[in-house]
Amino acid sequence: MTEHVKSYYAATANKQDARPPLQGTVTADVCVIGAGFTGTAAALELAERGFSVALVEGVRVGFGASGRNGGQIVNGYSRDLDVISARYGENAGRVIGALACEGGNIIRERVAKYNIQCDIQPGMLTTAFSAKQMRELEHHVKVWNGFGYDQFELLDKSALAPHVVTDRYVGGLIDRKGGHLHPLNLVQGEAAAFESLGGRIFENSPVVSVDMDNAIVKTAQGEVRAKYVFVCGNAYLRNVLPELEGRIMPVSTQVLATEPLGNKAAKLLPSNVCVEDCNYVLDYFRRTADNRILYGGGIVYGGTDPASIRAKILPLMLKTFPGLRDVRIDYTWSGNFALTLTRFPQMGKLAPKVFFSHGDSGHGVTTTHLLGRILAETVAGDSSRFDVFSKLPYYPFPGGKTFRVPLTVAGSWYYRLKDRLGL
Ligand SMILES: Cc1cc2nc3c(=O)[nH]c(=O)nc-3n(C[C@H](O)[C@H](O)[C@H](O)COP(=O)(O)OP(=O)(O)OC[C@H]3O[C@@H](n4cnc5c(N)ncnc54)[C@H](O)[C@@H]3O)c2cc1C
Repeated sequence: MTEHVKSYYAATANKQDARPPLQGTVTADVCVIGAGFTGTAAALELAERGFSVALVEGVRVGFGASGRNGGQIVNGYSRDLDVISARYGENAGRVIGALACEGGNIIRERVAKYNIQCDIQPGMLTTAFSAKQMRELEHHVKVWNGFGYDQFELLDKSALAPHVVTDRYVGGLIDRKGGHLHPLNLVQGEAAAFESLGGRIFENSPVVSVDMDNAIVKTAQGEVRAKYVFVCGNAYLRNVLPELEGRIMPVSTQVLATEPLGNKAAKLLPSNVCVEDCNYVLDYFRRTADNRILYGGGIVYGGTDPASIRAKILPLMLKTFPGLRDVRIDYTWSGNFALTLTRFPQMGKLAPKVFFSHGDSGHGVTTTHLLGRILAETVAGDSSRFDVFSKLPYYPFPGGKTFRVPLTVAGSWYYRLKDRLGL
Protein backbone atom coordinates (compact mmCIF):
# COMPACT_ATOMS: atom_id res chain seq x y z
CA MET A 1 0.00 0.00 0.00
CA THR A 2 1.51 3.34 -0.99
CA GLU A 3 -1.52 5.62 -0.85
CA HIS A 4 -4.56 6.41 1.29
CA VAL A 5 -7.47 3.98 1.14
CA LYS A 6 -10.37 5.23 -0.98
CA SER A 7 -12.67 7.29 1.23
CA TYR A 8 -14.62 10.51 1.31
CA TYR A 9 -11.66 12.07 3.09
CA ALA A 10 -9.03 10.98 0.56
CA ALA A 11 -11.27 12.18 -2.27
CA THR A 12 -11.79 15.63 -0.74
CA ALA A 13 -8.41 16.21 0.96
CA ASN A 14 -6.52 19.44 0.46
CA LYS A 15 -3.72 18.79 -2.01
CA GLN A 16 -0.50 17.62 -0.39
CA ASP A 17 2.33 16.10 -2.45
CA ALA A 18 3.91 12.85 -1.30
CA ARG A 19 7.20 13.21 0.53
CA PRO A 20 10.21 11.09 -0.50
CA PRO A 21 11.02 7.91 1.41
CA LEU A 22 13.82 7.75 3.95
CA GLN A 23 17.14 6.96 2.31
CA GLY A 24 20.61 6.77 3.80
CA THR A 25 21.37 7.96 7.32
CA VAL A 26 19.58 10.88 8.92
CA THR A 27 20.17 12.26 12.41
CA ALA A 28 17.59 13.94 14.65
CA ASP A 29 16.91 14.67 18.29
CA VAL A 30 13.75 12.59 18.04
CA CYS A 31 12.56 10.03 15.51
CA VAL A 32 8.77 9.61 15.52
CA ILE A 33 7.36 6.42 13.95
CA GLY A 34 3.88 6.85 12.48
CA ALA A 35 2.26 10.04 11.16
CA GLY A 36 -1.22 9.71 12.62
CA PHE A 37 -2.55 12.22 15.13
CA THR A 38 -0.31 10.92 17.93
CA GLY A 39 2.94 11.03 15.98
CA THR A 40 2.17 14.26 14.15
CA ALA A 41 0.95 16.02 17.30
CA ALA A 42 4.12 14.98 19.13
CA ALA A 43 6.34 15.98 16.22
CA LEU A 44 4.72 19.41 15.92
CA GLU A 45 4.93 20.01 19.66
CA LEU A 46 8.64 19.12 19.58
CA ALA A 47 9.31 21.34 16.56
CA GLU A 48 7.56 24.22 18.33
CA ARG A 49 9.96 23.69 21.22
CA GLY A 50 13.03 23.78 18.93
CA PHE A 51 13.84 20.06 18.62
CA SER A 52 14.98 18.50 15.35
CA VAL A 53 12.53 15.73 14.44
CA ALA A 54 12.28 13.06 11.74
CA LEU A 55 8.74 11.73 11.27
CA VAL A 56 8.80 8.34 9.53
CA GLU A 57 5.51 7.11 8.07
CA GLY A 58 4.92 3.71 6.47
CA VAL A 59 2.44 4.99 3.89
CA ARG A 60 1.14 8.59 3.83
CA VAL A 61 0.49 11.11 6.62
CA GLY A 62 -2.93 10.17 8.05
CA PHE A 63 -3.02 6.74 6.36
CA GLY A 64 -4.23 5.02 9.57
CA ALA A 65 -7.23 5.74 11.78
CA SER A 66 -6.42 9.45 11.89
CA GLY A 67 -7.25 9.97 8.22
CA ARG A 68 -10.35 7.75 8.16
CA ASN A 69 -12.31 8.33 11.35
CA GLY A 70 -15.71 9.81 12.09
CA GLY A 71 -14.12 13.20 12.63
CA GLN A 72 -15.89 13.60 15.97
CA ILE A 73 -14.20 15.76 18.58
CA VAL A 74 -15.16 13.83 21.71
CA ASN A 75 -13.82 15.26 24.93
CA GLY A 76 -12.50 12.73 27.43
CA TYR A 77 -11.47 9.11 27.12
CA SER A 78 -13.14 5.82 26.24
CA ARG A 79 -13.89 5.41 29.95
CA ASP A 80 -15.56 8.01 32.15
CA LEU A 81 -13.58 10.07 34.65
CA ASP A 82 -15.01 8.45 37.78
CA VAL A 83 -13.89 5.04 36.47
CA ILE A 84 -10.30 6.33 36.44
CA SER A 85 -10.39 7.29 40.12
CA ALA A 86 -12.17 4.09 41.09
CA ARG A 87 -9.70 1.91 39.23
CA TYR A 88 -6.42 3.78 39.53
CA GLY A 89 -6.80 5.91 42.66
CA GLU A 90 -7.68 9.48 43.51
CA ASN A 91 -4.43 11.07 42.33
CA ALA A 92 -4.52 9.51 38.85
CA GLY A 93 -8.23 10.35 38.62
CA ARG A 94 -7.64 13.98 39.53
CA VAL A 95 -4.68 14.51 37.17
CA ILE A 96 -6.09 12.62 34.20
CA GLY A 97 -9.59 14.01 34.72
CA ALA A 98 -8.24 17.56 34.65
CA LEU A 99 -6.73 16.85 31.19
CA ALA A 100 -9.94 15.61 29.61
CA CYS A 101 -10.44 18.72 27.47
CA GLU A 102 -6.83 19.56 26.68
CA GLY A 103 -6.70 17.49 23.48
CA GLY A 104 -9.70 19.35 22.01
CA ASN A 105 -8.15 22.66 23.02
CA ILE A 106 -4.89 21.72 21.27
CA ILE A 107 -6.82 20.97 18.07
CA ARG A 108 -8.69 24.29 18.12
CA GLU A 109 -5.51 26.23 18.93
CA ARG A 110 -3.58 24.61 16.08
CA VAL A 111 -6.38 25.00 13.57
CA ALA A 112 -6.41 28.73 14.40
CA LYS A 113 -2.63 29.22 14.69
CA TYR A 114 -1.73 27.44 11.45
CA ASN A 115 -4.95 28.29 9.61
CA ILE A 116 -5.72 24.61 8.94
CA GLN A 117 -8.67 24.18 6.56
CA CYS A 118 -10.48 21.17 8.03
CA ASP A 119 -14.19 22.18 8.17
CA ILE A 120 -14.17 22.36 11.97
CA GLN A 121 -17.65 22.76 13.53
CA PRO A 122 -18.68 23.07 17.19
CA GLY A 123 -21.11 20.78 19.01
CA MET A 124 -21.36 17.08 19.78
CA LEU A 125 -24.51 15.19 20.78
CA THR A 126 -24.56 11.89 22.65
CA THR A 127 -27.95 10.21 22.31
CA ALA A 128 -29.79 7.78 24.60
CA PHE A 129 -32.08 4.91 23.57
CA SER A 130 -33.49 4.29 27.05
CA ALA A 131 -34.19 5.85 30.43
CA LYS A 132 -31.21 3.89 31.76
CA GLN A 133 -28.88 5.49 29.21
CA MET A 134 -30.35 8.92 30.09
CA ARG A 135 -29.45 8.27 33.72
CA GLU A 136 -25.92 7.39 32.59
CA LEU A 137 -25.70 10.72 30.76
CA GLU A 138 -26.96 12.55 33.87
CA HIS A 139 -24.29 10.79 35.91
CA HIS A 140 -21.66 11.79 33.32
CA VAL A 141 -22.68 15.45 33.67
CA LYS A 142 -22.39 15.26 37.46
CA VAL A 143 -18.93 13.70 37.29
CA TRP A 144 -17.67 16.31 34.81
CA ASN A 145 -19.25 19.15 36.79
CA GLY A 146 -17.04 17.93 39.64
CA PHE A 147 -14.07 18.81 37.42
CA GLY A 148 -15.50 22.27 36.77
CA TYR A 149 -16.79 21.46 33.27
CA ASP A 150 -19.92 23.45 32.39
CA GLN A 151 -20.38 23.00 28.63
CA PHE A 152 -23.07 20.30 28.78
CA GLU A 153 -26.79 20.54 28.17
CA LEU A 154 -29.10 17.60 28.82
CA LEU A 155 -31.95 17.30 26.31
CA ASP A 156 -35.24 15.44 26.60
CA LYS A 157 -36.87 13.88 23.54
CA SER A 158 -38.68 17.06 22.54
CA ALA A 159 -35.47 19.10 22.75
CA LEU A 160 -33.66 16.81 20.30
CA ALA A 161 -35.48 18.00 17.18
CA PRO A 162 -33.35 21.12 16.59
CA HIS A 163 -30.31 18.82 16.49
CA VAL A 164 -31.28 15.42 15.08
CA VAL A 165 -34.54 14.47 13.40
CA THR A 166 -35.28 10.81 14.13
CA ASP A 167 -37.63 8.91 16.44
CA ARG A 168 -34.96 6.59 17.79
CA TYR A 169 -33.79 8.42 20.90
CA VAL A 170 -35.38 9.33 24.22
CA GLY A 171 -32.96 12.20 24.87
CA GLY A 172 -29.33 13.21 24.74
CA LEU A 173 -26.50 15.39 25.90
CA ILE A 174 -24.94 18.26 23.99
CA ASP A 175 -21.27 19.03 24.60
CA ARG A 176 -20.71 22.54 23.24
CA LYS A 177 -16.94 22.03 23.34
CA GLY A 178 -17.19 18.87 21.25
CA GLY A 179 -17.49 19.13 17.49
CA HIS A 180 -16.40 17.63 14.21
CA LEU A 181 -13.93 18.09 11.38
CA HIS A 182 -12.28 16.58 8.30
CA PRO A 183 -9.63 14.48 10.09
CA LEU A 184 -7.35 13.87 7.11
CA ASN A 185 -7.15 17.60 6.44
CA LEU A 186 -6.43 18.19 10.13
CA VAL A 187 -3.51 15.75 10.30
CA GLN A 188 -2.14 16.90 6.95
CA GLY A 189 -2.42 20.53 8.09
CA GLU A 190 -0.53 19.67 11.27
CA ALA A 191 2.12 17.88 9.20
CA ALA A 192 2.53 20.96 7.00
CA ALA A 193 2.84 23.14 10.13
CA PHE A 194 5.53 20.77 11.42
CA GLU A 195 7.43 21.08 8.14
CA SER A 196 7.11 24.87 8.22
CA LEU A 197 9.10 24.73 11.47
CA GLY A 198 11.87 22.66 9.88
CA GLY A 199 10.51 19.17 10.63
CA ARG A 200 11.28 16.38 8.16
CA ILE A 201 8.70 13.81 7.05
CA PHE A 202 9.52 10.60 5.19
CA GLU A 203 6.52 8.82 3.64
CA ASN A 204 6.29 5.31 2.20
CA SER A 205 8.98 4.35 4.68
CA PRO A 206 7.80 1.41 6.80
CA VAL A 207 10.02 0.96 9.82
CA VAL A 208 11.32 -2.61 9.95
CA SER A 209 13.24 -2.54 13.23
CA VAL A 210 14.28 -0.36 16.14
CA ASP A 211 17.65 -0.69 17.85
CA MET A 212 16.45 -0.05 21.40
CA ASP A 213 19.84 0.49 22.97
CA ASN A 214 21.03 3.04 20.45
CA ALA A 215 17.73 4.65 19.35
CA ILE A 216 18.29 3.78 15.69
CA VAL A 217 15.18 3.37 13.52
CA LYS A 218 15.61 1.33 10.33
CA THR A 219 13.61 1.18 7.14
CA ALA A 220 14.40 -0.85 4.00
CA GLN A 221 16.53 1.94 2.52
CA GLY A 222 17.62 4.10 5.41
CA GLU A 223 17.91 4.78 9.11
CA VAL A 224 17.37 7.58 11.58
CA ARG A 225 19.91 7.91 14.36
CA ALA A 226 18.17 9.78 17.16
CA LYS A 227 18.48 10.61 20.83
CA TYR A 228 14.90 9.45 21.41
CA VAL A 229 12.32 7.40 19.55
CA PHE A 230 8.53 7.72 19.80
CA VAL A 231 6.56 4.70 18.60
CA CYS A 232 3.13 5.89 17.41
CA GLY A 233 2.04 3.14 14.98
CA ASN A 234 -1.05 2.24 17.03
CA ALA A 235 -3.21 -0.50 15.42
CA TYR A 236 -1.15 -0.43 12.21
CA LEU A 237 2.20 -1.27 13.81
CA ARG A 238 1.32 -4.97 13.96
CA ASN A 239 4.37 -7.17 14.58
CA VAL A 240 7.21 -4.68 14.04
CA LEU A 241 7.61 -4.43 17.81
CA PRO A 242 6.14 -7.65 19.22
CA GLU A 243 6.48 -6.31 22.77
CA LEU A 244 3.62 -3.91 21.98
CA GLU A 245 1.43 -6.29 20.02
CA GLY A 246 -0.17 -8.16 22.92
CA ARG A 247 -1.06 -4.94 24.72
CA ILE A 248 -3.68 -3.87 22.17
CA MET A 249 -6.13 -5.44 19.79
CA PRO A 250 -6.75 -3.94 16.34
CA VAL A 251 -10.47 -3.38 15.89
CA SER A 252 -12.00 -2.21 12.63
CA THR A 253 -15.02 0.05 12.30
CA GLN A 254 -16.73 1.05 9.07
CA VAL A 255 -18.00 4.28 7.57
CA LEU A 256 -20.09 5.32 4.58
CA ALA A 257 -20.73 8.70 2.98
CA THR A 258 -23.86 9.42 0.95
CA GLU A 259 -24.02 11.57 -2.13
CA PRO A 260 -24.29 15.33 -1.37
CA LEU A 261 -27.85 15.86 -0.12
CA GLY A 262 -28.15 19.64 -0.07
CA ASN A 263 -30.91 20.84 2.28
CA LYS A 264 -32.02 17.30 3.01
CA ALA A 265 -28.92 16.75 5.18
CA ALA A 266 -29.51 20.00 7.05
CA LYS A 267 -33.09 18.92 7.75
CA LEU A 268 -31.83 15.74 9.45
CA LEU A 269 -29.08 17.45 11.45
CA PRO A 270 -30.29 21.06 11.66
CA SER A 271 -27.74 22.43 14.15
CA ASN A 272 -24.85 20.60 12.42
CA VAL A 273 -23.65 18.84 15.58
CA CYS A 274 -22.14 15.38 15.27
CA VAL A 275 -23.91 12.50 16.96
CA GLU A 276 -22.92 9.26 18.63
CA ASP A 277 -25.21 7.00 20.63
CA CYS A 278 -24.66 5.44 24.06
CA ASN A 279 -24.53 1.80 22.99
CA TYR A 280 -21.53 -0.41 23.67
CA VAL A 281 -21.07 -0.82 19.90
CA LEU A 282 -22.17 2.61 18.88
CA ASP A 283 -23.32 4.42 15.72
CA TYR A 284 -21.67 7.79 14.93
CA PHE A 285 -22.71 10.23 12.25
CA ARG A 286 -22.59 13.81 11.07
CA ARG A 287 -22.97 16.15 8.10
CA THR A 288 -19.94 16.86 5.93
CA ALA A 289 -19.08 20.31 4.61
CA ASP A 290 -20.66 19.38 1.26
CA ASN A 291 -23.84 18.12 2.96
CA ARG A 292 -23.42 14.39 2.79
CA ILE A 293 -24.36 12.17 5.71
CA LEU A 294 -21.23 10.40 6.95
CA TYR A 295 -22.37 7.41 9.00
CA GLY A 296 -20.19 4.93 10.90
CA GLY A 297 -20.63 2.01 13.22
CA GLY A 298 -20.04 -1.65 13.82
CA ILE A 299 -16.79 -3.22 14.88
CA VAL A 300 -14.77 -6.27 13.90
CA TYR A 301 -12.38 -7.50 16.59
CA GLY A 302 -8.99 -8.37 15.12
CA GLY A 303 -9.19 -5.52 12.59
CA THR A 304 -10.37 -7.29 9.45
CA ASP A 305 -12.73 -5.70 6.93
CA PRO A 306 -16.25 -7.10 6.62
CA ALA A 307 -17.25 -8.67 3.28
CA SER A 308 -19.51 -5.70 2.50
CA ILE A 309 -19.23 -2.42 4.37
CA ARG A 310 -22.37 -1.17 2.64
CA ALA A 311 -24.38 -4.20 3.78
CA LYS A 312 -23.17 -3.64 7.32
CA ILE A 313 -23.56 0.13 7.73
CA LEU A 314 -26.46 1.06 5.42
CA PRO A 315 -29.09 -0.73 7.59
CA LEU A 316 -27.79 1.18 10.63
CA MET A 317 -28.17 4.51 8.82
CA LEU A 318 -31.67 3.60 7.57
CA LYS A 319 -32.77 2.72 11.09
CA THR A 320 -31.87 6.25 12.14
CA PHE A 321 -32.89 8.03 8.92
CA PRO A 322 -35.40 5.83 6.99
CA GLY A 323 -35.92 8.71 4.54
CA LEU A 324 -32.45 8.10 3.08
CA ARG A 325 -33.51 4.77 1.55
CA ASP A 326 -33.03 5.93 -2.03
CA VAL A 327 -29.88 8.02 -1.74
CA ARG A 328 -26.68 7.04 -3.49
CA ILE A 329 -23.77 5.84 -1.37
CA ASP A 330 -20.60 7.39 -2.79
CA TYR A 331 -17.95 6.02 -0.43
CA THR A 332 -17.46 3.16 2.01
CA TRP A 333 -14.29 2.42 3.95
CA SER A 334 -12.91 0.75 7.02
CA GLY A 335 -10.18 1.62 9.52
CA ASN A 336 -8.54 0.14 12.59
CA PHE A 337 -8.29 1.61 16.04
CA ALA A 338 -6.34 0.05 18.92
CA LEU A 339 -8.40 -1.34 21.78
CA THR A 340 -6.91 -1.93 25.22
CA LEU A 341 -8.47 -4.24 27.75
CA THR A 342 -9.26 -1.32 30.06
CA ARG A 343 -10.33 0.90 27.12
CA PHE A 344 -7.84 3.40 28.45
CA PRO A 345 -4.79 4.59 26.45
CA GLN A 346 -1.32 3.38 27.37
CA MET A 347 1.99 5.24 27.39
CA GLY A 348 5.31 3.86 28.44
CA LYS A 349 8.94 3.16 27.64
CA LEU A 350 10.32 0.13 25.81
CA ALA A 351 13.88 1.23 26.65
CA PRO A 352 15.28 4.37 28.34
CA LYS A 353 15.14 6.33 25.05
CA VAL A 354 12.21 4.61 23.34
CA PHE A 355 8.68 5.75 24.23
CA PHE A 356 5.29 4.60 22.99
CA SER A 357 1.70 5.78 23.13
CA HIS A 358 -1.29 3.84 21.79
CA GLY A 359 -4.70 2.38 22.53
CA ASP A 360 -7.20 5.23 22.49
CA SER A 361 -9.85 2.55 22.09
CA GLY A 362 -12.07 4.24 19.54
CA HIS A 363 -12.08 7.75 21.01
CA GLY A 364 -8.78 9.19 19.92
CA VAL A 365 -9.21 12.41 17.99
CA THR A 366 -8.67 14.51 21.11
CA THR A 367 -6.72 12.07 23.30
CA THR A 368 -4.00 11.52 20.69
CA HIS A 369 -3.32 15.26 20.68
CA LEU A 370 -3.00 15.31 24.45
CA LEU A 371 -0.74 12.26 24.53
CA GLY A 372 1.40 13.58 21.67
CA ARG A 373 2.03 16.72 23.72
CA ILE A 374 2.83 14.67 26.83
CA LEU A 375 5.39 12.59 24.91
CA ALA A 376 7.06 15.80 23.73
CA GLU A 377 7.10 17.30 27.22
CA THR A 378 8.93 14.25 28.51
CA VAL A 379 11.85 14.75 26.14
CA ALA A 380 11.78 18.47 26.89
CA GLY A 381 12.47 17.71 30.54
CA ASP A 382 9.05 17.48 32.23
CA SER A 383 7.89 13.90 32.62
CA SER A 384 5.34 14.57 35.37
CA ARG A 385 2.26 13.95 33.22
CA PHE A 386 3.89 11.06 31.33
CA ASP A 387 4.64 9.42 34.70
CA VAL A 388 0.98 9.48 35.69
CA PHE A 389 -0.14 7.78 32.48
CA SER A 390 2.76 5.35 32.25
CA LYS A 391 2.23 4.12 35.81
CA LEU A 392 -1.32 2.99 35.13
CA PRO A 393 -1.29 -0.80 35.27
CA TYR A 394 -1.65 -2.53 31.93
CA TYR A 395 -3.47 -5.83 31.43
CA PRO A 396 -2.87 -8.11 28.43
CA PHE A 397 -5.85 -9.48 26.55
CA PRO A 398 -6.74 -12.91 27.89
CA GLY A 399 -6.16 -15.72 25.42
CA GLY A 400 -2.91 -14.39 23.94
CA LYS A 401 -2.56 -13.78 20.24
CA THR A 402 -4.58 -16.87 19.28
CA PHE A 403 -7.62 -16.59 21.51
CA ARG A 404 -7.86 -12.88 22.33
CA VAL A 405 -10.23 -12.21 19.42
CA PRO A 406 -12.80 -14.98 20.15
CA LEU A 407 -12.67 -14.26 23.88
CA THR A 408 -13.25 -10.53 23.35
CA VAL A 409 -16.08 -11.22 20.91
CA ALA A 410 -17.69 -13.48 23.51
CA GLY A 411 -17.33 -10.78 26.18
CA SER A 412 -18.77 -8.08 23.95
CA TRP A 413 -21.92 -10.10 23.29
CA TYR A 414 -22.95 -9.58 26.88
CA TYR A 415 -22.82 -5.80 26.49
CA ARG A 416 -24.48 -5.86 23.06
CA LEU A 417 -27.31 -7.97 24.45
CA LYS A 418 -27.74 -5.55 27.34
CA ASP A 419 -27.99 -2.66 24.85
CA ARG A 420 -30.48 -4.56 22.72
CA LEU A 421 -32.68 -5.37 25.71
CA GLY A 422 -32.31 -1.86 27.13
CA LEU A 423 -30.86 -3.20 30.39
C1 LIG B 1 -13.23 4.30 11.23
C2 LIG B 1 -12.84 4.96 12.52
C3 LIG B 1 -13.66 5.93 13.07
C4 LIG B 1 -13.26 6.60 14.23
N1 LIG B 1 -13.99 7.66 14.66
C5 LIG B 1 -13.54 8.42 15.68
C6 LIG B 1 -14.20 9.61 16.03
O1 LIG B 1 -15.14 10.05 15.37
N2 LIG B 1 -13.75 10.30 17.11
C7 LIG B 1 -12.67 9.86 17.85
O2 LIG B 1 -12.31 10.51 18.83
N3 LIG B 1 -11.97 8.77 17.48
C8 LIG B 1 -12.37 8.05 16.41
N4 LIG B 1 -11.65 6.96 16.02
C9 LIG B 1 -10.38 6.67 16.71
C10 LIG B 1 -9.25 7.59 16.24
O3 LIG B 1 -9.30 7.76 14.85
C11 LIG B 1 -7.90 6.98 16.66
O4 LIG B 1 -7.90 6.77 18.05
C12 LIG B 1 -6.72 7.88 16.32
O5 LIG B 1 -6.80 8.38 15.02
C13 LIG B 1 -5.43 7.11 16.52
O6 LIG B 1 -4.37 7.91 16.07
P1 LIG B 1 -2.88 7.33 16.07
O7 LIG B 1 -2.01 8.39 15.57
O8 LIG B 1 -2.57 6.78 17.42
O9 LIG B 1 -2.94 6.07 15.07
P2 LIG B 1 -3.11 6.04 13.49
O10 LIG B 1 -3.87 7.20 13.00
O11 LIG B 1 -3.61 4.70 13.14
O12 LIG B 1 -1.64 6.26 12.95
C14 LIG B 1 -0.64 5.29 13.01
C15 LIG B 1 0.31 5.56 11.84
O13 LIG B 1 1.48 4.78 12.01
C16 LIG B 1 1.88 4.30 10.75
N5 LIG B 1 2.72 3.11 10.98
C17 LIG B 1 2.37 1.94 11.55
N6 LIG B 1 3.39 1.09 11.54
C18 LIG B 1 4.43 1.75 10.97
C19 LIG B 1 5.78 1.38 10.69
N7 LIG B 1 6.26 0.17 10.97
N8 LIG B 1 6.57 2.30 10.10
C20 LIG B 1 6.11 3.55 9.82
N9 LIG B 1 4.85 3.93 10.06
C21 LIG B 1 4.02 3.05 10.63
C22 LIG B 1 0.56 4.00 10.04
O14 LIG B 1 0.74 3.92 8.63
C23 LIG B 1 -0.30 5.14 10.50
O15 LIG B 1 -0.25 6.25 9.61
C24 LIG B 1 -12.04 6.24 14.89
C25 LIG B 1 -11.24 5.22 14.37
C26 LIG B 1 -11.61 4.59 13.19
C27 LIG B 1 -10.74 3.52 12.62
